[in-house]
Amino acid sequence: MSLAQERSLDATYRRRLTEGVLAFQQCGGGHAVFPPRPVCPTCGSRELAWAESAGDATIYSATTISPRDQDPYTVVILDVAEGFRMMSRLDGPDATSATIGDDVRVEVRAIAGGGDLLPLAALSTGVDA
Ligand SMILES: [Zn+2]
Repeated sequence: MSLAQERSLDATYRRRLTEGVLAFQQCGGGHAVFPPRPVCPTCGSRELAWAESAGDATIYSATTISPRDQDPYTVVILDVAEGFRMMSRLDGPDATSATIGDDVRVEVRAIAGGGDLLPLAALSTGVDA
């Protein structure tokens, strides 16, 4: 794979973030591919199409960070409902109480204080199905 291809995939992913969309790829075999790459790591397919995540995810692992001059936040690895795993950041008042297996919602937004739009997680609050 060329560096140009890699940069192009990354540029597409980042452009979708600016539109508020968490994009991932799917191969013809139905495998979810994330982060973006030119070949499906599961089956080797090069026929990858972009798809949009609805943002439903479960915490796979969680580590709380307590910076000296900021509120604590939690770095999480998420199992996203569409079938891929990604790193994210969980903030909000309940972030430090998050545990493995908790349901979260991924939304593309800026961290409090500004900056680029990022896929950030928040705990799903007891909404019954
Ligand atoms: Zn595949």
